[in-house]
Amino acid sequence: MNFKNKKCEICGKKAEIFLFGKFLCKNKKCIEEAKKLSMARHKFRVVAVGSTNPVKIEAVKEGFEKVLGAVEVVGVDVISGVSSHPIGLEETYLGALNRAKNAFEKVQCSYGVGIEAGLIKVGNHYIDVHVCVVFDGIRESVGLSQGFEYPKIVAEKVLEGVEGGEVAEKISGIKDIGKNVGLIGYLTDNNITRKDLCRESVIMALIPRMVKNAHLY
Ligand SMILES: [Zn+2]
Repeated sequence: MNFKNKKCEICGKKAEIFLFGKFLCKNKKCIEEAKKLSMARHKFRVVAVGSTNPVKIEAVKEGFEKVLGAVEVVGVDVISGVSSHPIGLEETYLGALNRAKNAFEKVQCSYGVGIEAGLIKVGNHYIDVHVCVVFDGIRESVGLSQGFEYPKIVAEKVLEGVEGGEVAEKISGIKDIGKNVGLIGYLTDNNITRKDLCRESVIMALIPRMVKNAHLY
């Protein structure tokens, strides 16, 4: 590299090295400053979650950090545009998609994320599934959590239009159970919690965004 006539981009003295994308003198302070600027450029990607539920926000952070590395996660209050407890995969997916897109619009971010829990009918069973959509302004990717059978008494209420969380609160005695371990946490003695279901759905939704998988999708 030719340092002739090159000046330190921090202090303006004669440049002797090229580091962090800059010509620099050998002054420690200049090197430190250049390092800081370079880190700021690679600033954490911001992920906006379409929810203020701390369980969902933490799950998104954990899921993203496992798959894509460090991110800064913010929760924003958005509308899902579907019923408070969606029924069927399509409605649940739509709720997650709307949350992801609305969050993306509200905040300056790299990704908008929506997580929606819905009741899916299989035979005579009602299965709770969490659907996650990740939206980057162009395309959306989707993932589902593990599913578990909803107790009959809860499913019946949900079908009548009552939100599952309200019934689950009564059964478990845990206030705001949806922002806590969830009905799944109560049913499994916390072997699996709602955060686990949310995080799983996030990891699933990130599969097509992994560098090694990009060519497959
Ligand atoms: Zn310098």
